[in-house]
Amino acid sequence: MDSPLLEVKGLKKYFPVRAGFLSGLQGTVRAVDGVDLKIYRGETLGLVGESGSGKSTLGRLILRLEEPTGGSIFFEGEDIRHYTGRSLKKYRRAAQLIFQDPYASLNPRKTAGSIVGEPLLIHEDYDKKERGERVAGLLEVVGLNREHMERYPHEFSGGQRQRIGIARAIALRPKLIVADEPVSALDVSIQAQVLNLLKDLRKNYGLTYLFITHDLSVVKFISDRIAVMYLGKIVELATNHELYKHPLHPYTMALLSAVPGGRTKRIALRGDIPGPFEFPGGCVFHTRCPFRMDICDETEPPLTEREGGHFVACHLEAAKLS
Ligand code: SF4
Repeated sequence: MDSPLLEVKGLKKYFPVRAGFLSGLQGTVRAVDGVDLKIYRGETLGLVGESGSGKSTLGRLILRLEEPTGGSIFFEGEDIRHYTGRSLKKYRRAAQLIFQDPYASLNPRKTAGSIVGEPLLIHEDYDKKERGERVAGLLEVVGLNREHMERYPHEFSGGQRQRIGIARAIALRPKLIVADEPVSALDVSIQAQVLNLLKDLRKNYGLTYLFITHDLSVVKFISDRIAVMYLGKIVELATNHELYKHPLHPYTMALLSAVPGGRTKRIALRGDIPGPFEFPGGCVFHTRCPFRMDICDETEPPLTEREGGHFVACHLEAAKLS
């Protein structure tokens, strides 16, 4: 693989939490806690985890929609953390977001044409006619047509609304798209159509995706590589094929074993994901892991490459291989 399009190093986002407006600090939520990740040009990197794992926050940090507490974000080799003004505006063209809920993310008082044309209005010098033609072209690319330009979001189905959101996201020919649960709000029958559209766009427009989801069948369908996130940390990262065939982290094994019809032996987890203030020391997964050892309570296992691009953060594998 060549140099990554995007690389994050030691990325952190801690949220201070107060009980009330005038109260003192109640605690800190470590939404993203020291993540290292590379996304290569033209690939789809799936980011999977339960709700509360920090995956959406990681996506928002990458897009500079949240400011990190620590760490670096490199895009095409440049640290974008300190971008402001024109450099930030340029980055915002190159890195776009597709939202989960296409209805909530589209202004109900604007037509599909003005929603898709908005980024062009802000960033390009097209006159009205040129912009209209460009918008019509974008709607056709996502499987709608120019007659849809004058309609309002409530006149579309959920799948069509998500197509409008996708047309808006690709309007400025971005290089990177963060897709945050883009099909979770859609009927299963519509999900495959939208996923196939995203695959086609990636090929035709040379896009790179960070695809965030809690759904293991969706992430398997769309991703080249998959990162598994738990309590703000990447606990496993591998190619799609390798992760499903040889999961190494007990959390990944448990997730895969819970998929109906999966081939992996069922692994039951203890308890629930810890609450936001109950951040476990040592291995973040030790409170639920069926393979927990003494070392796991005290020492955090680093994310280590085992073989050919398969990374895992677990003492169990380290012990097996040493
Ligand atoms: Fe389980 Fe220990 Fe591995 Fe964490 S480090 S996943 S607690 S075996």
